[in-house]
Amino acid sequence: MSEQDSAAARAIRERYQELVTKVDTFFHRVQSRYGGAMRCGAGCTACCQVRLSVTALEASVIREGLASLPQEERARLASRAEQAPPGACPALEADGRCAIYAWRPLVCRSHGVPIRHREPGGAAAVSACEKNFDGGAGLPEVSPDCVLDQTTLSTMLGVLDAAHADARGTPRGERIRLDTLLTENPLGGEPL
Ligand code: SF4
Repeated sequence: MSEQDSAAARAIRERYQELVTKVDTFFHRVQSRYGGAMRCGAGCTACCQVRLSVTALEASVIREGLASLPQEERARLASRAEQAPPGACPALEADGRCAIYAWRPLVCRSHGVPIRHREPGGAAAVSACEKNFDGGAGLPEVSPDCVLDQTTLSTMLGVLDAAHADARGTPRGERIRLDTLLTENPLGGEPL
C-alpha cells in the first residue's frame, strides 16, 4: 500500500466515524423521546445473540481498537471468543458488556430503534427489537423522524466501504467475522 493510499484509507475511516456519530446521535434522540418504550441499556444482550460479520472498513476500525489494548487483554478476548457459545456474539462479556463497545459496528449501534426495511416482496415495513415499543404494537405512533431507514444506512456504509477497499487496493465487498477479528494475531503467525 502506498503512502497516498494509506492517507486516503485513513480519510475514509474518518468519514466512517462521522457516520458512526450520526447513528449514535440518532439513537440518543430516539431514546430521549421514547425511552419509556425502550429497554436498551447496559446488561441487555437481546441483540447480541448472534454471530456477526462486518465490512472490511468496520473490521479495520475494530482492528485499530484491538491493537490499542495491552497484549494480555487481547489474549483474554481471543480466549473468550474461542469459547463463546455458538449462538452468542464472541465479543459479549459474561456480565453482558460488549468487549468492543467503542468500536462496535453500525448494526449494533442501530439495534433498538425503529427500522424501516424492505420485506422479501418489496413492501416497506418498520420493526424494532421485540423488547421495545410494546413488542411492536407502539411502532405506528412513532414519529417518522425517529425511524432509521436501513437502505439509506446500508448504502452509505457500502459507499464508504467500497472507497476504503479501493484506497487499499483490496477487493470490494469483503466481510470479516467478528470471531476472526478477535482471535487473529496482529503480528501474523499463530492466532492469539
Ligand atoms: S459487537 Fe458488541 S454490541 Fe455487537 S453483537 Fe457483539 S457484543 Fe453485542
